Amino acid sequence: MTVSQQIPVATLGVPRIGRRRELKFALESYWSGKSSAADLLTTAKALRAANWEEQRDRGVSKIPSNDFSLYDHVLDTVAMVGAVPPRYAWNGGEVPLDIYFAMARGNQGQTENGGQAGHIHAAHGPSLTAMEMTKWFDTNYHYIVPELDDDQAFTLSSTKPVDHFLEAKALGIHTRPVLLGPVTFLKMAKSPAEGFDPLALLPRLLPVYEQLLRRLKLSGADWVQIDEPALVLDLSPNDRAAFEFAYGLLSKATPELKIMLATYFGPLGDNLETAISLPIAGLHIDLVPAPEQLETVGRHAPKDLVLSLGLIDGRNVWRANLPAILDRIKPIVAGWPLDRVEIAPSCSMLHVPIDLRMETALDANIRSWLAFAAQKTDELVVLARALSEGRDAVADALTASAEAAAARGTSTKVHDPLVEGRIAGINGSMKQRKSAFAERSRVQARTLDLPPFPTTTIGSFPQTRQVRKARSAHAKGELNYLDYETFLKKETESAIRWQEEIGLDVLVHGEFERNDMVQHFGEQLSGFAFTEHAWVQSYGSRYVRPPIIFGDVSRPNPMTVRWWEFAQSLTQKPVKGMLTGPVTILNWSFVRDDVPRSEVCRQIALAIRDEVTDLERSGARMIQIDEAAFREGLPLRKCDREFYLDWAVECFRLASTGVQNATQIHTHMCYSEFNEIIDAIAELDADVISIETSRSAMELLDAFTSSKYPNQIGPGVYDIHSPRVPEVAEISALLLLARERLSDAQLWVNPDCGLKTRNWEEVRPALVNMVAAARALRERV
Ligand code: GLN
Ligand code: ZN
Repeated sequence: MTVSQQIPVATLGVPRIGRRRELKFALESYWSGKSSAADLLTTAKALRAANWEEQRDRGVSKIPSNDFSLYDHVLDTVAMVGAVPPRYAWNGGEVPLDIYFAMARGNQGQTENGGQAGHIHAAHGPSLTAMEMTKWFDTNYHYIVPELDDDQAFTLSSTKPVDHFLEAKALGIHTRPVLLGPVTFLKMAKSPAEGFDPLALLPRLLPVYEQLLRRLKLSGADWVQIDEPALVLDLSPNDRAAFEFAYGLLSKATPELKIMLATYFGPLGDNLETAISLPIAGLHIDLVPAPEQLETVGRHAPKDLVLSLGLIDGRNVWRANLPAILDRIKPIVAGWPLDRVEIAPSCSMLHVPIDLRMETALDANIRSWLAFAAQKTDELVVLARALSEGRDAVADALTASAEAAAARGTSTKVHDPLVEGRIAGINGSMKQRKSAFAERSRVQARTLDLPPFPTTTIGSFPQTRQVRKARSAHAKGELNYLDYETFLKKETESAIRWQEEIGLDVLVHGEFERNDMVQHFGEQLSGFAFTEHAWVQSYGSRYVRPPIIFGDVSRPNPMTVRWWEFAQSLTQKPVKGMLTGPVTILNWSFVRDDVPRSEVCRQIALAIRDEVTDLERSGARMIQIDEAAFREGLPLRKCDREFYLDWAVECFRLASTGVQNATQIHTHMCYSEFNEIIDAIAELDADVISIETSRSAMELLDAFTSSKYPNQIGPGVYDIHSPRVPEVAEISALLLLARERLSDAQLWVNPDCGLKTRNWEEVRPALVNMVAAARALRERV
C-alpha cells in the first residue's frame, strides 16, 4: 500500500493552550509587564511547532495551520481584514500586538476574576472598552464580536495565515491553512449603525480574502480549510446567496488553491443544496450530532467533491466505538470514491482537553472510556487505516475500542438501578407546585413578612485573595480541614453581620466555601468525575475544567444544608438557600453521550430536588436555584428549540416544586435577552426571578409584561461587571423605570449577578446605596 492510497486524516484545528497551559502563563506574564512581547511570541511559536510535530507523528496528513491564536480566531480575523474599530486609533499597517490585546481586553488593568465554568465577566473599564464577547455558536467558547460600521473598509492587515504556513514549512511540515470564512465572519459581527446588516459588506470584504488566498498559493499552499459553521444555522435566501456569491468569487480568484469548506456544530439541513452547489473542492460535514446527513450528502453531492467525514466528537471527551462507526459508514463509503474521502473530527478539537495521559489520578475504568485531542487523533488514524487497508490492519485497536465501549455500556459505575428507578417513577405531581402562584404569594406574603421592594443579593460575596489562598492551601493539604472551616465560618459570619448592619432584607451566606457554582455540586454528586489538567479555552487566557458526567447522577448526602444552617443560626433575617440548577450543571459539563441529555438533566434535577427538600426541612424559607446557563443550551436551529425548552423547564420544575406553598423559590439568570424564551421562563414558575438589566435601562423588562409574567422579579439595579459604584439616584432612576413595567408587588431590588468577582471596597458602598434607594422608594409609595 503506498502512501497516496491512504485516506487522509484531518484534525481541523487543535487546542492552542499548551498541555501545561503555557499560553495562559505567557499571556498573563506579558500583560502584567513581567515579560516581553518577544517572550510571548517565542512561547507561542514553540506551542505551534509542538502541535504540528505531534500531529505529524501521530499520522495526520492534513495538518492545520493558522488554527493557533494568541487570544481568539475571530479576533485574528478582525485583525486580518483590518476591521479595527476607530476607538483603538489604529493607523493602518500590520495590526500591532497592543491594539490586538486592547480590542480583546480594553486598555486598562483588568478587573475580571474567577474562572467560573463557562461564566464570564467581561471587563468594561471607564477608559478604552474591550470589544464585546459572546458564545461561539452553542459551545462554551467565547469569541470577540466584530464591530463593523456601514462604511467599513477592509484591508489585508495581518499576514499571520501566511506566516504560520511558512513557519510550518520551515519545519518540513506542509499544512492546510485554516481561515474563518467571510460569510460566517460577517454573520457573527454586529454593527453600531442601526438596522445595518454586516453581510452587506461582503463585496468589500472578499478582495481581502482573495488577496490572502493568492499569497497562500504563492507560498506553496495547495489546500485551504475555510470554516463556515454558519451553514448549520437557519439561513435566509439572502444569506444563501451570500455563500454562492462569496465562493463563486473565491474559487475563481485562485483556481489552483483548493477549498475545503468546513461546516460543523450540526446538520446542513435545508442549507445542504447551497453547500454542495458551491464551487469548492471539498466539504466537511459534522456527523456526530447528525450522522444521518452522511446518507443525504452522499446521495446529492457531486462525486468529484472530497468529503471530509466528521466522525469523532470534537466537542466531547468520550472514546469512540470505532467498529460501530465503520459499520455505520460502510454503505455510503462503499459508493464513494475512496480517494475522495477524508477522516476528521466533527469540528476543530479546540473544544476538548489535550491529552488523557496527563490524568494519572482518574479512576482507571472511567479513564478507559475517555479520549482527549491526542487520543481522538489516534482514533482518526485508526479509522482511516481501517478504510484504506482493511480492518485487519488495525484489528487490535478496533477490538480495544469495542471492548471499552462494551465495558462502559454495562459498568456499575455508570448504571445505578436506583437512579434509573427514580427516573421511571417521575410523575406529573412532581413537576407542579401545590398551588398556583397567586395563592402561594399570599401565603408567602403572610409568613415572610417582607417590606415592599425587598432587597437581596444574588448569592456570592467577593472571593478575595485570602479566600482563594485559603482554598488552594486546603486543596494542597497545607491548611487542615478544621482551620479551613474556621476561616470560612469567620468569612460567612462577617458577611451576615454586615448584611444585617446595612439593612438588607433577605440575606445570603456568601458562597465562600465554593470554588465554582458547578464544580461545588459536581464534587458532591455521584456520577461526576474531575480532572487535573483537562483545561479547555473559555475565552482568551481563561480556561475551564468542566466536570465529566460519566454515570447516573445521585446525591449521597446533603450538599449545602450545613452552610445554610450555620448562616441562618446567626440571624433572624431569612437566609436564602443557594443552589445551582440542573440545566446549568448540565450545560457547563462534559455530558455522557450514551443517554439523551434530557435524561441526564432529569437525574441532576432529582438530586437538586432532594437538596431543596432537605433545606426546607431544616427551616429554609427561601431557596434560590440559579440557572445561569438556561438560555445557553438553546439549540442553534429554531425547530429544535421547543423540545429543549420543554425538557429544560421540566427539569427546573422537578428540582424546585417539591416544597410547601410557604417556601419561596427564587431563580437567577445572568442575562437579559428573554424575548424568545419568555414563555418558558414563565413556565418555570419560580416565585421570584432575578435577572440582569442595569446596563439596558430596564428596556429588557419589556418581555416581562404582567400578562406574560405574573410572578415576582428582581431586575438588576447594580452592574456588577463594572468596578463603578452606582449612586443612589441612579439606582432610584432604574427602579422608576422598572416600575413603569412591573407592578409594585412584583418588584425586588438586587444587583445584576453575584459579587464574587468584585472587591469589598466596591461592593460595600454599592449595596449601601442600593438599600438606600429601596428605602427611599418605600417612603414615597
Ligand atoms: N449564586 C451565584 C452567585 O452569586 C450565581 C452566579 C451566576 O448566576 N452566575 O455567584
Ligand atoms: Zn448571574
